[in-house]
Amino acid sequence: MKKVSNRKRVLVTGGAGFLGSHLCERLLEAGDDVLCVDNFYSATRDNVTHLLAHPHFELMRHDVTFPLYVEVDEIYNLACPASPVHYQHDPVQTTKTSVHGAINMLGLAKRVKAKILQASTSEVYGDPEVHPQPESYRGSVNPIGPRACYDEGKRCAETLFFDYWRQHRLPIKVARIFNTYGPRMHPNDGRVVSNFIVQALAGEPITVYGEGLQTRSFCYVDDLVDGLIRLMATPVEETGPVNLGNPHEHTILELAKKVIAMTGSRSKIEYRPLPSDDPLQRRPDVGKARAVLGWAPTTSIDRGLEKTIAYFSSLPG
Ligand code: NAD
Ligand code: UDP
Ligand code: UDP
Repeated sequence: MKKVSNRKRVLVTGGAGFLGSHLCERLLEAGDDVLCVDNFYSATRDNVTHLLAHPHFELMRHDVTFPLYVEVDEIYNLACPASPVHYQHDPVQTTKTSVHGAINMLGLAKRVKAKILQASTSEVYGDPEVHPQPESYRGSVNPIGPRACYDEGKRCAETLFFDYWRQHRLPIKVARIFNTYGPRMHPNDGRVVSNFIVQALAGEPITVYGEGLQTRSFCYVDDLVDGLIRLMATPVEETGPVNLGNPHEHTILELAKKVIAMTGSRSKIEYRPLPSDDPLQRRPDVGKARAVLGWAPTTSIDRGLEKTIAYFSSLPG
């Protein structure tokens, strides 16, 4: 279909979610026409209501497991619940979203000759035996455990992306996103940063799973979105996968203590059983992102938590 404007038309699936809503905002700031598609499985319209009046923003309720016929130049495929609580709630739907969603969005990209970026995940490395994780590491995933619907769904999506590249020369970009946090995470999302902040602000016990000695590396949302946009802008030969995340590693117990200190909370730490297959350690090797994208995160954990705590404090109680 002939374009009537020179603006880039960008589809963001999962655009009403935590990362998607920040991405939509940044794309609008850059002057793009943004089509946000979401079925509101793990987010509400609240994350994007402030964008609804924008003349270049459009919100469409749609489930990516069904075909979608629209005309766009670029696709960011973010649709998929990301929190273990959400993706394990309806695991069959999670795999369908990753796999059928990828097939539909790749088919769409192929028909309209769009560039397409997949929001993959550090979970493709599973419970990693190689530390930190470089893109060349093939991972250690339990294919039949409770996290498999997400991990294997995302692994299969990567396979599909690379097969559309090899078979159809479709321009693809695969980002492997490590734990990212910030404003607009859903308060009941179940992920560790939002849980701890919500608990600390309410004076409720901070729920540390296991002994809290497992590690994660937390990236602030603005840094992550910057990485996604840079990856989309790379030459066609750059398919990824590229790790995007913050290489500073923390134990979960350290995070709990930091959140308690920063909120001035009187909450006590309460230990709960460690969920099965919970990865013991995780830290990205971001050498490739640095080399290929000229990208490295710039927001410290203290600054990022400060902004995230301010966001959760501002929510109506
Ligand atoms: P989120 O749950 O806030 O956002 C996901 C969005 O996708 C939600 O708005 C949800 O309603 C939507 N969605 C789910 N299934 C859908 C479907 N079938 N059709 C249409 N929309 C659907 O999570 P997030 O943190 O914003 O994650 C966004 C993407 O980034 C996900 O693909 C996730 O796997 C990936 N990712 C995120 C992180 C992180 O730490 N935030 C880490 C690794 C990967
Ligand atoms: N598809 C879509 N939108 C489009 C084109 C295709 O949702 O604009 C879906 C369609 O459901 C199809 C899938 O993408 O089954 C894969 O498309 P492709 O052309 O790669 O393969 P097909 O299954 O059509 O042979
Ligand atoms: N976690 C925790 N308490 C919580 C939520 C999570 O101790 O209330 C732990 C969880 O067991 C995991 C880490 O924090 O080791 C990160 O969990 P999250 O669900 O945020 O993401 P994951 O990296 O496991 O996908």
